[in-house]
Amino acid sequence: MVSESGVNATRLARAEKAVLGEIWTSSAAYDNLVYLCDWLGNRWAGSDSERRAASYLMDRARQYGLRNLEGQEFRHNGWTRGPVHLEVLAPVAREVAAISLPYTPPADLEGEVIWVGQGEEEDFKRLEGQIAGKIVLSAAEASPGAGQRSSHRREKFARAIDAGAVAFLFANQNPGMMAITGALAAGFPAEIPGLGLPKESGDYIVRLLDHGPVRLKIHVEASFAPTSSVNVIGQVGPASPDGPFLITGGHYDAHDIAVGALDNAAGAVIVLEAARALATVADDLPMPVRVILFACEEVGLLGAWYYAEQARSDLDRCRFVLNVDSAAVGAPGNENLTLCGFPELVPYFQEVGRRMCYEVPVKDGLSAYSDHFPFAVAGVPNASMGARDESSRLVGRGWGHTAADTVDKVTPKSLQASAATTARLLLRMAFEENWPARHRTRADMAETIASSPIGWYVKRFGRYPFQPAEG
Ligand SMILES: [Zn+2]
Repeated sequence: MVSESGVNATRLARAEKAVLGEIWTSSAAYDNLVYLCDWLGNRWAGSDSERRAASYLMDRARQYGLRNLEGQEFRHNGWTRGPVHLEVLAPVAREVAAISLPYTPPADLEGEVIWVGQGEEEDFKRLEGQIAGKIVLSAAEASPGAGQRSSHRREKFARAIDAGAVAFLFANQNPGMMAITGALAAGFPAEIPGLGLPKESGDYIVRLLDHGPVRLKIHVEASFAPTSSVNVIGQVGPASPDGPFLITGGHYDAHDIAVGALDNAAGAVIVLEAARALATVADDLPMPVRVILFACEEVGLLGAWYYAEQARSDLDRCRFVLNVDSAAVGAPGNENLTLCGFPELVPYFQEVGRRMCYEVPVKDGLSAYSDHFPFAVAGVPNASMGARDESSRLVGRGWGHTAADTVDKVTPKSLQASAATTARLLLRMAFEENWPARHRTRADMAETIASSPIGWYVKRFGRYPFQPAEG
């Protein structure tokens, strides 16, 4: 199924070796990561920090020889946190550490808390009739076993809303007083207020519940204001206005409580590093590679939704979208690939891994929670590259979405490994003479999504999780 004939195979091998040499002898990716995180800061959606990161990435892209550079600006409704207080009123009086979750509305309320465990469908079913009027406390994440799926925050939140909860508390499962964050909505005020708790706060409330009802008081200040963000777009390879092309991308924004080194300064610099290396063999590339560094992923994929909408008529020619999100976790070589709606490509990428003498675990599974998703909805073959560190024993995102997602969690070698994998996969796809995937229609994809684990959500809310209201 994977095929490159004689001349092509020679050109591919030459390009691949050049690209590998380029990446493994450079500190560019790590230098860029350090600058984004330590100098520019959190790159929060719509902030000055995010804007300055866009200019920095644009300058780098120019310096690396990317062409057709564009800063694609789009408007959205920004959110800024204010003070928050979470107090236990009974059975004892005590303030508990918590932060507000992005897009929570301001709030002043009291209520009894109910612990829903993992916050999965069966948990809410078990507690049916007991949740209305209460404050739901849910475990933030899970590390599901093989074949299991754990719900995303937005799905747990939606179940709480449906059950009549008045507020939502989302407790980290990793110790260290790390309050966990994550947006509640895509650029609009969330339906009910939500807070992120460190594991220790969540455990404390659960222990109190052993002794009877626990009453909480929540005070949240937050503000909303129109702002804008910028997708950074460039291209390497031949100018080919009518032919096929590839897209690679990753988000450069992060949460306001973190510098987001792993999630996802790493992904942005990996994509940029792959592009830098590919630019050195641009004349050999059989098709262009579009490079998109997305803004506002953390607040509902706003950058990717906007790009995919603007490029709608163009996407028919897009052979594949390779998104890179949190792909430098732990030691080098932890990368994996998750296709979204294209199971026929699993054997293709397995074969590519064997040919590269660098096998990357690959599966197909529907996920609505990174920048590949708007492209999946449009029926474009796509995958997200991520990484898992099985040795860390951390649940879910680990350091991600906490203030501990700092530069020290990322090694230069893991950036090099992921950049090399990204560049090689793009090269292999560009050289492929018998590309095995076909685009799907939007209707066909919609049907697949409807019958997936997020199908209920789409039916209930009339849109995909994290789809902007106007999208
Ligand atoms: Zn991310």
